[in-house]
Amino acid sequence: MPEVKSYCRICGTVCGTRLRLDEAGEILGIFGDKNHPLSRGYICVKGAQGRDLYRAPERLTHALKREEGGSFKRIALADAFDEIASRLRQLIVRNGADSHAVFRGTYNNQESASFHMIPAWMKAIGSTSTFSTITIDQSAKIVALGRMGAWAAGKQEFCDANVWMLAGVNPLVSNWPGFNSVAQNPALMLKDAKARGVRLIVIDPRYTETARLADVYLQPIPGHDAVLAAGMLKIILDEGWHDAAFSDTYVEGLARLRSAVSGFTAEYVAARCEVPQKLLRRACSEFAEGAKRGLVVTGTGPNMTARSNLVEHMYECINVVCGRFLRAGEEARQQIIARGRTPLHAQVVAPSRPWASGRRSRVRAVGLIGGEMATGVLADEMLLAGDGRITSLIVQGGNPAATVPDQRKIVRALQSLELLVTVDPFLSETAKLSHYVIPTTMPYERPDIAVAYPYPFPFAFAQYTPAILKVPAGWEVVDDWVPYWSLAQRLGLKLNYDGIELVSAERPSAEDLLRILTRNSLVPFDAIKRQAGGSAFRVAPQIVRCAEEGNKSRFQVSPCDVVSELLEIRKEPLARRERHPFLLISRRIRETMNSTFRGLPSTKRKFPTNPIWMHSDDLGTHDLHAGDIVTVTSDHGEIRAVVAADDTMRRGVVSMTHGWGRVGVDDPLDGGSSTSLLISSDRDVEQINAMPRMSGIPVAIRRCNPEAPIYPRSAMPREPCPR
Ligand code: SF4
Repeated sequence: MPEVKSYCRICGTVCGTRLRLDEAGEILGIFGDKNHPLSRGYICVKGAQGRDLYRAPERLTHALKREEGGSFKRIALADAFDEIASRLRQLIVRNGADSHAVFRGTYNNQESASFHMIPAWMKAIGSTSTFSTITIDQSAKIVALGRMGAWAAGKQEFCDANVWMLAGVNPLVSNWPGFNSVAQNPALMLKDAKARGVRLIVIDPRYTETARLADVYLQPIPGHDAVLAAGMLKIILDEGWHDAAFSDTYVEGLARLRSAVSGFTAEYVAARCEVPQKLLRRACSEFAEGAKRGLVVTGTGPNMTARSNLVEHMYECINVVCGRFLRAGEEARQQIIARGRTPLHAQVVAPSRPWASGRRSRVRAVGLIGGEMATGVLADEMLLAGDGRITSLIVQGGNPAATVPDQRKIVRALQSLELLVTVDPFLSETAKLSHYVIPTTMPYERPDIAVAYPYPFPFAFAQYTPAILKVPAGWEVVDDWVPYWSLAQRLGLKLNYDGIELVSAERPSAEDLLRILTRNSLVPFDAIKRQAGGSAFRVAPQIVRCAEEGNKSRFQVSPCDVVSELLEIRKEPLARRERHPFLLISRRIRETMNSTFRGLPSTKRKFPTNPIWMHSDDLGTHDLHAGDIVTVTSDHGEIRAVVAADDTMRRGVVSMTHGWGRVGVDDPLDGGSSTSLLISSDRDVEQINAMPRMSGIPVAIRRCNPEAPIYPRSAMPREPCPR
């Protein structure tokens, strides 16, 4: 039976895979590649079971056009492109270039050719209305860099750290490679790290799979991350455990930061976050006392909670005052060799607050975040009448109707568009609202090289994969970048693709585009291509250089807006939650990623719905049982959900997985429950990036079924606490 090597492109972790094919070239099985330099044999359940989607009956095989009554009819792809181009031309002439928007979903991050095609398309149109999932995920990190500055040579790396602190991130489930986290084969990575003596500190309101490996574990009340991080900073600074020499040279505003955190005493923080003082001090000493190397890294937990920008700033301050950066003469191993290299200097990139200049949203004057419009204002930008209203939108590899907070509003906004096009292999909740749906190939049906989203690999790794599967005859599906190229041709627009003009009227191949992206690669494209299964290439080590002549930039750790917010939270009274006694936090599961993979048989078997997970003591106190259906009420909305028991939860805290539920259908037994209905996009929103509060939401829980559980308890997953 033929077997070929490739890599998984469901998330950015880039796990090496072996595909076993039948005689007809169809996938019989997907397995981890033991020889893969990054993943060393690991693949998650999505990577292994994803094969079921390739020939699933629900897969779109032809373009669709929505009819008057809402039903879809098949349309030839070329006709669809003609009609979309013609409509776009009218709308842009009438409403201006910025009235055209693109929303990039998570899937776009793994498709190198299309990831780089969208900026080319938007530039050609002249629109700055690009939105993505980044700004409803961890955009607080972008805000922190903009307010504080960054270190040009990068941060210390996991491979030679002796301590690592994970705040609200659970790599054993999320596998996320960005932001210096533990990603590829996380269990093995953490096991190796523990064996070489790395001390692990985990902060999470749930006793997660990762927390079970921690040397120090803090389980604070959700939503108090800023208080906790400010308290940790105070302890570190008071004890003199920070890197004073580094701070003296590179940090501005340290005295003001000290004063701003002075009220966050260990007693106060312990009482407010409900963590033992002793453990709080121990976490600080483990992280900062003595000759330590390693980072504090945050995930979606703190980035989706209240005051997420402040939280991220505070945690990042810990890294800064402890000087956890690569210095001149050290080797920077993290890189993307296929994209080339620029010299790294041991110096600060000064804070620049880029959102304060350039385009501002009509909604709360929110500026551009990482060069994009904030997704928190997307719905209002479509709904708000007047100049600049977004009237046409292409959704690429995403599903905002299911995932963007405040579902009723985003659905109303999508329905208000004059042109909505979804580019997706399935009829997602967003596709169902669209005027046109363009069906795409799926990852193993197209060639790729792992250079899409700029997540650096931990060493000089690169991998090319050819297209492994043939698209069945008669299907009219295209790679994700093709719609943009086809529309540009029809509109007479020139595309500048990653700095190269695409001048030919003939459609490039995917490989042509990949060659452009890797034209500065340290290893020639063809050499990468020859290494089936990817390789750690021998390249000259990247050594950090001294600061450039005259560079005197410093980190700004205590800008005015940060200090006033710190003082504000210090004055807040302790929260009383009589109306909403529980705090709902977000929860990732291995089986799904945002709204995708819900329909896989393996997911349905394990998770027939997305339950609301509660500690069994809370179940007992509230006379609830696994399998009960409850209403979950926030100050914004109400959903119904099925209860499941989970003793890893903190008492008073409940969790649910987002991206579930069917639009307009309130039936937790049929499609699950949408947590986005509980989230307001108008209140509890961050100022700079319009990030809604998506975790740590106060909720009330009430049983719907008066008698016995409606749903068989035996069908519900259960998570016992191993402590
Ligand atoms: S972690 Fe899972 S989904 Fe992500 S690349 Fe690996 S196998 Fe694919």
